[in-house]
Amino acid sequence: MTQESQSSIANRQSRTANRQSRIGNRQLNILVIEDNEQNLYLTTFILEKHGHRVTAARDGAQGIRLAEEIRPDLILLDIQLPVMDGYAVAAELRRNPALAQVPIVAVTSYAMAGDRERILAAGCNGYIEKPINPETFLDEVLAHLP
Ligand code: MN
Repeated sequence: MTQESQSSIANRQSRTANRQSRIGNRQLNILVIEDNEQNLYLTTFILEKHGHRVTAARDGAQGIRLAEEIRPDLILLDIQLPVMDGYAVAAELRRNPALAQVPIVAVTSYAMAGDRERILAAGCNGYIEKPINPETFLDEVLAHLP
């Protein structure tokens, strides 16, 4: 085994340990607002495989309605959405005091220089870049829990 792969395994084990101590065995309710079926499928697959519950919304309006209804533990928000983009959705979610503490994690394929600032200014806690990496995705998501 090369030194590099040993260190990458060690990193993964330490990420897993961090994640487990943070959330324990808690099953999380995660709202995924995503219009792309393939991304939605992959995201849901990874989260459910680790015991979490996923509610899916295909557009921003549906996402906002479901967020108010189910009060998720975390929201994954695609930025490129039809009609109402992710920035507008995040801003609208943040106008609801009942959802103020819910982490919103943007998922975006265009994280250019100004996008990070724009994503955070809209009220998101952070972002994950597409394409989704199944190896690291869960840790990237859970890192945004309080
Ligand atoms: Mn999209």
